[in-house]
Amino acid sequence: MKYISTRGNSAAVTSAQAINLGMVPQGGLFVPQSIPEFSTPFINDSYQKTAFQVLAPFLTDFSTDELGDCISRAYNSSTFDAPSVLGIKKISSKMSVMELWHGPTAAFKDVALQIMPHFMQYSKQKTGNKRHTVILVATSGDTGKAALEGFKNSEGISIIVFYPHGGVSEVQRLQMATTDGSNTYVAAVKGNFDDCQTGVKQIFSDREFSTNLDKKGFELSSANSINWGRLCPQIAYYFHAYRMLVKDSVIKENDPVNFCVPTGNFGNILAGYYAKMMGLPIRRLICASNKNRILSDFFSTGTYDRNRDFFKTISPSMDILISSNLERFLFEMNGKNGDQINSWYSSLSTTGVFSIDKAIKQSIDSTLLYGWVDEPEVLNTIRETFDQTGYITDTHTAVAMAACKNIGPFDEHTIVASTASPYKFSCDVMRGLGRAVPDDEFEAVQSISDISKTPVHRAVLGLRSKTVRHNAVITIDQMKNFTTDIINTIAQ
Ligand SMILES: *Cc1c(COP(=O)(O)O)cnc(C)c1O
Repeated sequence: MKYISTRGNSAAVTSAQAINLGMVPQGGLFVPQSIPEFSTPFINDSYQKTAFQVLAPFLTDFSTDELGDCISRAYNSSTFDAPSVLGIKKISSKMSVMELWHGPTAAFKDVALQIMPHFMQYSKQKTGNKRHTVILVATSGDTGKAALEGFKNSEGISIIVFYPHGGVSEVQRLQMATTDGSNTYVAAVKGNFDDCQTGVKQIFSDREFSTNLDKKGFELSSANSINWGRLCPQIAYYFHAYRMLVKDSVIKENDPVNFCVPTGNFGNILAGYYAKMMGLPIRRLICASNKNRILSDFFSTGTYDRNRDFFKTISPSMDILISSNLERFLFEMNGKNGDQINSWYSSLSTTGVFSIDKAIKQSIDSTLLYGWVDEPEVLNTIRETFDQTGYITDTHTAVAMAACKNIGPFDEHTIVASTASPYKFSCDVMRGLGRAVPDDEFEAVQSISDISKTPVHRAVLGLRSKTVRHNAVITIDQMKNFTTDIINTIAQ
């Protein structure tokens, strides 16, 4: 399998090269030249086998042993607390929840970030890249910890995470600050998330800086879902969730289903789209947005317009105005027309706007449903779901549930992707449940455990008594020096 650019500006590369590069150097994202299709429906009993079958046709330059090694190191009983990596809970005759948060940090990003570092290591080997890779991450909370856990103790790779000082929850702050591992670095930046992201982008685009790094035998890279190595592992859980439902006799083999996904950067739902193209009987993919409804507006009007207010919501991991992976989806929708993608995205970067034509909008309409949900409705949905089913969801999952209710009902069984454990957003979950919100986040965590009669997720449990290892607080201007100092320490 070779990878081409969504903007038609790169020669085809191998998966190792695509993973090593992250994105197309001239701009654009790597996409598989074709999407493999499974002619026989496959029934597997383990997540690991499903992952192997799904990933093998995409990573053809990885040997069976190499891919197997990545999978067994990423998905095992010490990394995930559910035997099948994900959990499936049927909450009504028409709806199940696909819990993607059984990994080490209680966020769905673990599923991809537990395996991506192994892909990166093999990709470096295969491409003869001997430089030490420094992963830079700007995070509003969840990605930072998932990336730290994924990359900690990775040979030849170090990771630096920047988060907004005072801008993440206490649980999220402690999760990052207590990370162990010999190659992990964390700094709180006196600024907001945008400042962190802009700071990281400036470091990436500083030519002199990267030339200097290169001389020292270092290179910079990122861990976000524009990297194919992070996106492709997500396809596997769509297949596995379907299998689990067949096994539980909730659906019959070949029954069509819908998946509803709380969406930010469009990575998760794009993996669902690839699963559909590969032959999984998905009738509808439902793209659920929060108050930052740029995707929902785009799908309904055909115009992507980022000139709008940005809202901080109670589902912060979906607070995004540029959904990077949409570009990959549009490339499939416009018949792989790279020139057209190029002109849309030039327009987006100069004016903040681009529009698609009717025919492309129609092909999107036949693939996707979409909706957005305002804050009070998210909170109501948490209470309603608990009252009706006894199940407690986090604020992101509640966005998807509310969107389903607004757009449905559907004939098919609908699977809602649950992207975070309720223990990670415990104060807003308590508010949703209509209970008193304690001042202390850990009290809210305990209350949720009492109400739901489920144990606290191990990512949150005991967090308070863990040793704080990272307590740097820096200004925006110091981000580059912070990075340089770390690199100089590693180089010694
Ligand atoms: C990252 C994240 C999302 C959004 O996923 P995308 O792949 O960016 O669309 C939704 N919910 C949670 C909890 C997340 O961490």
